[in-house]
Amino acid sequence: MTKKSTYARFGIAAGVLLAIAGATTAASAAAGWSYTGPTGPSHWASIDASYAKCADGSAQSPINLTSSVKRPLTNLGFGYVAGEAGIFNNGHTVEAEPLGTNTSTVTIDNKAYSFLQVHFHAPSEHEVNGLHYPVEVHFVNKATDGSLAVVGVFIKRGKANEDWQPFIEKMLTATANAEDTKVELDWAKLLPSNPITLRYNGSLTTPGCAEGVKWNVMTTPIEMSDAQIATFLEAYSGNNRPVQPLHGRVVQLDSTVNK
Ligand SMILES: [Zn+2]
Repeated sequence: MTKKSTYARFGIAAGVLLAIAGATTAASAAAGWSYTGPTGPSHWASIDASYAKCADGSAQSPINLTSSVKRPLTNLGFGYVAGEAGIFNNGHTVEAEPLGTNTSTVTIDNKAYSFLQVHFHAPSEHEVNGLHYPVEVHFVNKATDGSLAVVGVFIKRGKANEDWQPFIEKMLTATANAEDTKVELDWAKLLPSNPITLRYNGSLTTPGCAEGVKWNVMTTPIEMSDAQIATFLEAYSGNNRPVQPLHGRVVQLDSTVNK
């Protein structure tokens, strides 16, 4: 399948993608690394020995999604449930995490992962045919063996999104402590309804850039209003790591619809 048909098939038109470049992040250097200047992405590995993978890794994220191979993979099995969420600002992004007993899970390739947190990057970290979406959110999930699986969701301009509004309303006032800002979030409703993903093996996109992360980028973006997206950009803009070399990795498309 060519790159064009891959995205056309799932409704990602180049016209809805925005290239946002040159934005700078408001808060930076909170933990020794940043997204610009002498502590920016090209210097991460020299900041701390534990960040070496950021420079010498062979399976790094994010990547430019330009082509994929169709595979009869089973769709992600989301078992996300609503609950109390704590919102906090870690100096590089704003996150929301379940508070109390967390029972949200996602099953990928017959392996269960517990949902840990969701955060965002603006513009998107993954590119689609070289273009960025305005925002990309990452749902981070962890298996009992410690391995990580991240679900990436693109945000495009469109209708206002009520399910995300409790998070958005607190983004600019959240402190570093999740216990300070509690809201109710229905995690499942923060996802697109189409479960199709592009999958590849990658890394964390922040130092130390650890590899062995299962990436699942959903092909259908969710919509938000201009005002909602503006709030994300007011919180952080330019907190995206540049795309990394593929080094022969193959991106898989779980093209078997709604199994
Ligand atoms: Zn992320």
